[in-house]
Amino acid sequence: MTKLDLAETSHRRFNPLTGEWVLVSPHRMKRPWQGKRESVPAAGLKAHDPDCYLCAGNLRANGARNPDYTHTFVFDNDFAALSPDAPPERIDKGLIVAEGESGVCRVLCFSPRHDLTLAMMEVSDIERVVEAWVEETINLGGRPDIAAVQIFENRGEIMGCSNPHPHGQIWATRHLPNEMEKEGRRQAQYLLDHGRPLLVDYLAQELRLSERIVSENAHFVTLAPFWAIWPFETMILPRRRIGAFDELTPEERSALAAALSDLTRRYDRVFDVSFPYSMGFHQKPTDGAVHSEWQMHAHFYPPLLRSATVKKFMVGFEMLGSPQRDLTPEAAAARLRDAAPQNLRSARRSSIPLSGFPSPVREGRPLRRRSGRSQPRPA
Ligand code: ZN
Repeated sequence: MTKLDLAETSHRRFNPLTGEWVLVSPHRMKRPWQGKRESVPAAGLKAHDPDCYLCAGNLRANGARNPDYTHTFVFDNDFAALSPDAPPERIDKGLIVAEGESGVCRVLCFSPRHDLTLAMMEVSDIERVVEAWVEETINLGGRPDIAAVQIFENRGEIMGCSNPHPHGQIWATRHLPNEMEKEGRRQAQYLLDHGRPLLVDYLAQELRLSERIVSENAHFVTLAPFWAIWPFETMILPRRRIGAFDELTPEERSALAAALSDLTRRYDRVFDVSFPYSMGFHQKPTDGAVHSEWQMHAHFYPPLLRSATVKKFMVGFEMLGSPQRDLTPEAAAARLRDAAPQNLRSARRSSIPLSGFPSPVREGRPLRRRSGRSQPRPA
């Protein structure tokens, strides 16, 4: 019997948040790659695009005109996936089961600048985005017909995002969506069994092991979860128990903005390209219950695998069996640590004072191309 080496042999890893497994095949990193290559979208966007329905002062499809906003701007999606007045009726005929689902879909412009991304924005401007998320959580979550406020961002054409203007969405629903339901159930069971929130214990263990930590500041830690599915998947976790956006202190809001800036800028350096991803926050349901099992957190799911143009696909065994990955989360975390801006590098692994965060990439400046990229470090 040989010993199981998580950096060399095929194995499966358990995701305690969902109760599901992911297949990991580190030995496959040696095979030649012939995957699909995507074209890298051309840069050179204008600061204001007269044809963009998110830019300040422009007309939207429904005839409304955007205000001349200077920081963030929130509005109801003109093509909402949920209608606020869907009747809460249930159809239950044998195996044919359906329910009316009502809710609100909002769009949040992160900046009036058409040509920016979170990675290019100043931390102080990302703080305004965090403030908007807090406000939306309070307003939408406070409604009696809303049980969950899902905040997310699809970034990049490769993720199906049709408009490069920096923006995210907020979908608030009557019922808990699947992922929140799964994570909520697992966290509740863990709290019952151990008396402590699952993600608080998980973060403590990851900080002890220090194998998958990407970066830290005084209030948040970014890491590649042990059970990650996507090649450069990460989570941002608060250090203390925080159920939802409305529980963040002013310092924690700033620290979250700094953590988002740090991570998105690292991503952009991994392949020297504006990194596409789907990201979002999970926070406690807004159904009025206490939910002390819930620890709010962000998930980042970027699709890129080997370069700016090679994307991971979830097909075959992954659709029919379990998700599978080749690059280990430990190697991905090492790549992301290595992708730090120079003045951040020396500060990693310590509590970085907020003022110590470097200013973000200047608008329009091409990303620095590093020579002699280091190889992923085996776990
Ligand atoms: Zn989650």
